[in-house]
Amino acid sequence: MNKLDDIVSLCKRRGFIFQGSDVYGGMAGTWDFGPLGTSLKKNIMDAWWKFFVEDRTDMYGLDAAIIMNPRTWVASGHTATFADPLVECKECKSRFRADKIADNINESVTTEEFHATHTKCPVCGKENWGPIRKFNMMFSTHVGAVLPGDDKEVSEKNIAYLRPETAQGIFVNYKNVLDTFYPNLPFGIAQQGKAFRNEISPRDFILRDRECSQMEIEYFVHPDTWEENFEKMRALSHEFLENILGLPKEEIHELEVPEADRAHYSKRTIDFMFDYPNGEEELMGLAYRTDFDLSNIARESGKSMEYRDKQTGETFIPHVIEPSIGVERLILAVISNAYTEDEINGEKRIVLKLSENLAPFKFCVSPLLKNKPELVSKAKEVYDILKKKYSHVTWDDSGNIGKRYRKQDEIGTPKCIVIDFDTLEDNTVTIRDRDTTEQTRVNIANL
Ligand SMILES: [Zn+2]
Repeated sequence: MNKLDDIVSLCKRRGFIFQGSDVYGGMAGTWDFGPLGTSLKKNIMDAWWKFFVEDRTDMYGLDAAIIMNPRTWVASGHTATFADPLVECKECKSRFRADKIADNINESVTTEEFHATHTKCPVCGKENWGPIRKFNMMFSTHVGAVLPGDDKEVSEKNIAYLRPETAQGIFVNYKNVLDTFYPNLPFGIAQQGKAFRNEISPRDFILRDRECSQMEIEYFVHPDTWEENFEKMRALSHEFLENILGLPKEEIHELEVPEADRAHYSKRTIDFMFDYPNGEEELMGLAYRTDFDLSNIARESGKSMEYRDKQTGETFIPHVIEPSIGVERLILAVISNAYTEDEINGEKRIVLKLSENLAPFKFCVSPLLKNKPELVSKAKEVYDILKKKYSHVTWDDSGNIGKRYRKQDEIGTPKCIVIDFDTLEDNTVTIRDRDTTEQTRVNIANL
């Protein structure tokens, strides 16, 4: 097994991440977070929110609707251009993203260019391809009552999309925030939420899924200052990934995205790449979106998106710097960085070295023996004290103490606290450190 398989297996075994709709055989490109995965995800999202929103004075939070007026996606360009090059094998009818099965071509590949690569079908091995067709990745749905048999016009009028990015929820609320809070430039609007992409071939565990959570900021700046603000967001992104999440600096690589590969709205993009178990993959993006979105909204809606400088009276449409993170990608980076195999007294051990601020539980409390009522009741007492103080505390009295340590190591609990017979005498407990496995004796009052 490679490391990614080990991680997938651990995530399932310990209740971090399950295949979506597992009981029905799964649903491709969807994943469900179990009790521990939910905690980890929440801790990561809360850390981001605190760092980028709560601890700053230039950020505003937002929680916009997932289903938006379809004109949003006409204005944003998604209706026309949010598409992947789809190619079908005429022999076995399998469908693929052309740029993912052939080398040295990008998303704008033409039929001729693709055929010239002489790629063989990954399923049947033949080379008999249809034309490249553009496949729009937005999930569509109908809003309101649409019945089978309704004419085409009725059903088309009711079409809406699940948002393919959270960004547009921010852009359509830019004016609302401006008119209610009167912020000075530069200021940002931050949002966390679900986004949907109908990937042709979801793969690589939670790296490329059809439903994901995003954390995005649109940072509005004076056009003349975009470069310095781009640098500011670039530095903040590194600080968040490295200092707050503890991802190793040397495993994060910046990739200056060449013009041909950039999204249609971007004048400059840096992809932050991460060394995942199966190779380098995008972790987050930092894009300079110019005034593309606000200008499009102004055109489509007929409403002014201008900002008026309170001092100089200058009027203009702000430009935008966008740091954008997919939460699942970040979770996989955090887990694969934390995943460690070592040896303790000649025995192989799996340990998830999550930092204390991210671990689902900070402490595990247990009585040395579960059939000694005096130990159990003392341990309950300690558990209640810690639970009140730190909240992320778990209780474990299953199996023997060695098994408990193993389990807590695998789910990343930094400290295990054990109540034994000495505790009853002198009120001290054993604290066992996850990473070093060292044990120290501490008074309950000092926990
Ligand atoms: Zn085929």
